[in-house]
Parts: sequence; structure tokens; C-alpha cells
Amino acid sequence: MLVRTSLEISVKINKMQIPKSVANVIGEFERLPGVGPKSAQRLTYHLLHAPKEVSAQLAAAIAELRDKTVLCSTSYNVAEEDPCEVCGSKIRDRSIIMVVEEPLDALAIERSHSFKGMYHVLHGSIAPLDNIGPDEIYLKELLPRLKIVEVKEVILATNQNI
Ligand SMILES: [Zn+2]
Repeated sequence: MLVRTSLEISVKINKMQIPKSVANVIGEFERLPGVGPKSAQRLTYHLLHAPKEVSAQLAAAIAELRDKTVLCSTSYNVAEEDPCEVCGSKIRDRSIIMVVEEPLDALAIERSHSFKGMYHVLHGSIAPLDNIGPDEIYLKELLPRLKIVEVKEVILATNQNI
């Protein structure tokens, strides 16, 4: 009877490899914030088992994300056109600017229907420990807006941190 150790077997048998295209997608998902290796694998194999259209629709939506959105040159909010709907509106109150960290923050405030002023989106917050200084966010772009005579109030709706 032939008895082999697992070490011998592992030397003689080629290891099963993840196909390169599968590994590529896992790698791309892993680069997204909040997606760890396990989630990246689960999402990839979900796409592999789902009908082909699901992958095609996801790919098309991602491609459109960058092609069909712009940053508003006034508020730095993500929009389909520059200026964004809020900055281009004739009925918004231009004397108040609400400063938020992320586009989703502006969207949440907008959904509450409680604010009729303008926005300024910083796209982050100053975090010296993460090497994010004032130049890494859209802070200096806020300053010229504050010099406009009609601006009377600025609301800082950023997260409470140092
Ligand atoms: Zn805007």
C-alpha cells in the first residue's frame, strides 16, 4: 500500500487557482470602502451566478456614473449639470450657505424639505492623522462665496469632531 504525506501531495498536485478574471473583480471590489475580502468574494460569485444582464447593467451604470455626472463649480455638489439644480434655482435663499462634508449629507437635508438655502460640499473633513489637510477638501473654494454681499449666514452641518 502506498502512503503519502500531505506535503508530498501538495508538491505534486498543482494548486487550484482562481480564474484571473474572477480574481480581478474580487480585487476591484476590495478597493471600495467598507468592502473586505469576504464581501468582495461574495459579490463576485453572486455576479458569476446571476444572469449575464445583471453584470452588464452594473458595468453600464458604473460607466455612466463618471460620464454623466459633474461637480457643480459653485457648491461642489455632484450633479448632472453645472450649475447644479440648487445653485441654478431662482427661488432658493442665497443668503444662507449650509456647509456639509459629503454630497449624501446635502441630499439628506434636501429630503427633509426644511432648508431652502444654498450648499457647499467639502468632500471630506480635515483629518491630520490621515494626512487630509485643508487643501485636500473643497474648503478654500468656500471663501470667495462668503465675500458675496448677499451671503449673511453660514451653517456648519459637518460631523462633530476636532
Ligand atoms: Zn451647486
